[in-house]
Amino acid sequence: MTQIAPQPGIMDITLYQGGAATVAGLENVVKLSSNENPLGPSQAAIEAFRRASFTLHRYPSTDHAALRTAIAETHDIDADRIICGAGSDEIIAFLCQAYAGPDTEVLHTEHGFGMYRINALAAGATPVEVAERERVTDVDALLEGCSDKTRLVFMANPNNPTGTMIGASEIARLADGLPPKALLVLDGAYAEYVEGYDGGASLVDSRDNVVMTRTFSKIYGLGGLRIGWGYGPQHVLDVLNRVRGPFNVSQAALSAAEAAVRDTAYLEHCRAENARWRTWMADALAEIGVPSDVSCANFVLARMASAQDAEDCNAYLSSQGLLVRPVGSYKLPNCLRITVGDEASCRRVVHAIRQFKEGAADAASV
Ligand SMILES: *Cc1c(COP(=O)(O)O)cnc(C)c1O
Repeated sequence: MTQIAPQPGIMDITLYQGGAATVAGLENVVKLSSNENPLGPSQAAIEAFRRASFTLHRYPSTDHAALRTAIAETHDIDADRIICGAGSDEIIAFLCQAYAGPDTEVLHTEHGFGMYRINALAAGATPVEVAERERVTDVDALLEGCSDKTRLVFMANPNNPTGTMIGASEIARLADGLPPKALLVLDGAYAEYVEGYDGGASLVDSRDNVVMTRTFSKIYGLGGLRIGWGYGPQHVLDVLNRVRGPFNVSQAALSAAEAAVRDTAYLEHCRAENARWRTWMADALAEIGVPSDVSCANFVLARMASAQDAEDCNAYLSSQGLLVRPVGSYKLPNCLRITVGDEASCRRVVHAIRQFKEGAADAASV
């Protein structure tokens, strides 16, 4: 008997594991495992989502013109070279589908986002992991990792789960050094957390081999709606628009995102609150002997004494109803990624880690 088999590469995919959201037997858990905005979305976005409920029987816009115009106006970029997707994950998928395939390579950094590898394998391409230097993207290593098979080079700036970022001149050096058939994909999922940073938009405008991806899932607080976007040179947009389904994002998501991107005052409020509690949390952790790199995003990567220590600490936190993200699958087994929550959550998680360090976990287990 023959059985149908999937395309090569598919069975090599390890299922993506999202941040934990529940603890059996506990209510009121604090979720600091998925880098969500603890303040939620803009009120204007919620209103737009409500209004969209009156037209649920209508198909959504196919050209996303209203959202692309709102993005273009607020970011001062060209609306014709913006593409919207079901989360930036879908833009990553379009890029792999369009440019990668059998006998090509897709580069990603050592502690890079898991979806790069998954989408490369789904397209039949070979993912290539490139070493970082002490949890920071290494441009020289990426350039050395390129071959004539390289089609896409993915890097997030700031990066998840490290929280570190590299400067504009380094990124320009990377773009300029790529082989002619390769595109640099700058994942700007956390760009809004960095004041004055354009996520790489100006580099897109000055090159023909750079694409930027952005999301409404993080600072805009709309992860549940699945909406993100990409910005690139015209030749790339002409390709991606051919693989994009006509109704790939819902009208509710488009409308809420449009209202969210226009509410720049709320964005600034969220950025400031995040910066304040991120500094507080990193300092408080350092005081109790838990170091972290300076984070440019909405999480802190706490470095525990060992992989065992990280595992025990994670178990203790979850017994206290505090969910953080173990990052062993990102080759950081001794670390825990902790999303910057609101004030109460930040205080609770630091308090619990202090208790853990003082031996509360041992006491609880006897
Ligand atoms: C969260 C995140 C995204 C966003 O994914 P969406 O599909 O837009 O929700 C993209 N890249 C990185 C590095 C992320 O951490």
